[in-house]
Amino acid sequence: MSALNETHDPALRSWVASANLTGTDFPIQNLPFAVFRRRGSAQAFRGGVAIGDQILDLAALAATSVFSGEAAVAVQAGAQDKLNALMALGAGAWRALRLALSRALREGAAEQAMLDACLVPQSEADYGVPARIGDYTDFYTSVHHATNIGRLFRPDNPLLPNYKWVPIGYHGRASSIGVSGQSFHRPVGQTLPPGAAQPVFGASQRLDIELELGIFLGTGNALGEPVPITQAEGHVFGLCLLNDWSARDLQAWEYQPLGPFLSKNFATTISPWIVTLEALAPYRLPFLRPEADPQPLPYLDSEANRQQGALDIQLQVGLLTPTMRDAGQGDATICRTSYRHAYWTVAQLVTHHTVNGCNLQPGDLFGSGTLSGPTLDQAGALIELTTGGKHPLELPNGESRTYLEDGDAVVIRGWCEKAGAARIGFGECRGTVLPARS
Ligand code: MN
Repeated sequence: MSALNETHDPALRSWVASANLTGTDFPIQNLPFAVFRRRGSAQAFRGGVAIGDQILDLAALAATSVFSGEAAVAVQAGAQDKLNALMALGAGAWRALRLALSRALREGAAEQAMLDACLVPQSEADYGVPARIGDYTDFYTSVHHATNIGRLFRPDNPLLPNYKWVPIGYHGRASSIGVSGQSFHRPVGQTLPPGAAQPVFGASQRLDIELELGIFLGTGNALGEPVPITQAEGHVFGLCLLNDWSARDLQAWEYQPLGPFLSKNFATTISPWIVTLEALAPYRLPFLRPEADPQPLPYLDSEANRQQGALDIQLQVGLLTPTMRDAGQGDATICRTSYRHAYWTVAQLVTHHTVNGCNLQPGDLFGSGTLSGPTLDQAGALIELTTGGKHPLELPNGESRTYLEDGDAVVIRGWCEKAGAARIGFGECRGTVLPARS
């Protein structure tokens, strides 16, 4: 579990002036990782670290001898076209790199001239999927989402009896995960219209979002060797934003008995930036269960998890319709919530996933599951926000939406802020719906 140290000091300022601006997602206390290249170029992708409105190019940094020891090894690993090698180095190397970066990017640092030559403006960058994602698992960690959506799919039996005992998940599809800026065609498939005896084939009419966080695994575990909860967070590299696009009409017809399949695997969009667990340390909270609920079984329980297993990450979903875009307007907020409401913690997910001996590998990705909060305006999916499509959302420009229409863009944002700590952000996760292929 990451403790507070000098890299979290809210008084730190960077010689990169934009990193000191109020409201920036990327002050010197954040230092998240992405892979990028210059926009429109044929350059190789390589790792980078966000600082203000700039990217510190790890490949350029690796060509210098500014850093030494463990931090230099980490820079070399981060210079590759995917972050898997850096992820595999483990928490000691990530900590060493963060400390070296923090010291070298501070006002007055002797390394300023060398590092200044390694900066690329974020406005001139294209991003890639940050890791070779071997496996993607999507969880279901909001009891509010599970109850809301369960009520729509099974009015008589909304929350299944296993929910409060076992972190529910399914194995997703890694090949269709894209990075922010992704656009995809509305999926086509089988649906069963209300009251019909047979399914029809066609474009999904109930295309939805799921507001989630992505959890990137760093070091893996050997097949057959579970990760105890006391060591679970040491295996986690960091968190990103994730939109688990969902075709609800396909899902309703296909999901029993084995769970979601083609309703989910046509596209998943993640933010380019991965915020490390260490950067999130100031925003830890106790993990609490309502008194009446079962306490986690011993393998999912630890003192540290109880004391500070939860994270207070503010989350927001924006919707930008083609009409709004044409009028030069920004996206309209349709949901605000926090990760603090999750029913299971990051550590519990890692431990549960491996308890049967399943091996995780560097660069594997977990989705948290839709992060709906306790009230309906905190719901992270349109199916909840519109009560199954019955109550359309009214947008500020007079338009309304039940599910997504062609041309709609969805923007997820995330950040952490509180008194006594630096505000840090995740940037954005943006995706756009294209018409179905004819
Ligand atoms: Mn999901």
